[in-house]
Amino acid sequence: MPVTTENVLQWLKQYAHVLHENRDYLTQLDSAIGDADHGINMDRGFQAVNEKLAGMQQMDIGSILKTVGTTLVSTVGGASGPLYGTAFLRAGIATTGKHELYEADMVNLLTVFIEGIKVRGKAQAGEKTMLDALIPALEAARKAEEKKPGLGQLIHQSSAAAEVGAKETTSMIATKGRASYLGERSRGHQDPGATSSWLLLKTLSTTLTE
Ligand code: ADP
Ligand code: MG
Ligand code: MG
Repeated sequence: MPVTTENVLQWLKQYAHVLHENRDYLTQLDSAIGDADHGINMDRGFQAVNEKLAGMQQMDIGSILKTVGTTLVSTVGGASGPLYGTAFLRAGIATTGKHELYEADMVNLLTVFIEGIKVRGKAQAGEKTMLDALIPALEAARKAEEKKPGLGQLIHQSSAAAEVGAKETTSMIATKGRASYLGERSRGHQDPGATSSWLLLKTLSTTLTE
């Protein structure tokens, strides 16, 4: 079964809820190595997205994701707004006109999502950012695409890899973003952006099994 337009709308609605619930947790993570606003930023951005969902019912998946991107860019200050904004914009462009996403579409979506973040943030794997959850997630999705366990499993495995990746940021030294100002002292703390990226995929996975 593909991911449908309805699934995407449900995913975004649920992610707004998850971010609201995890607002303090994400902000706490950011207080250790940043400026204590990641939960606030993400919650603000996705509450704005949530308010627009009712008006998105008739859109294709590409237009929905593009709307998410522009909404994040315009409502979220801080690094995460333009980074996630660019990622969603590119994901929207890659899914223009689609009402269903299959395995190859999901792999492609994740690929361009990551490319957007890389272009915007000039970061690579291992710099203790959201990419350290998303890149393992893409690798797991690619592996699953070859083994063909089905789209639900592909997304589940991708989400599980994002969880491992997010947790592994704890041992990394940040070399991008505010956390990089701390140098060695950034080690020992899980990256807030990697954590919100993991939650994004986890929410997609749970949305599809509900
Ligand atoms: P700010 O740092 O401006 O307060 P947020 O706290 O909302 O913004 O987001 C911080 C997160 O953004 C970090 O945890 C990290 O994952 C991510 N991030 C910061 N800079 C970059 C970058 N150059 N490339 C990729 N991700 C980044
Ligand atoms: Mg911050
Ligand atoms: Mg900030």
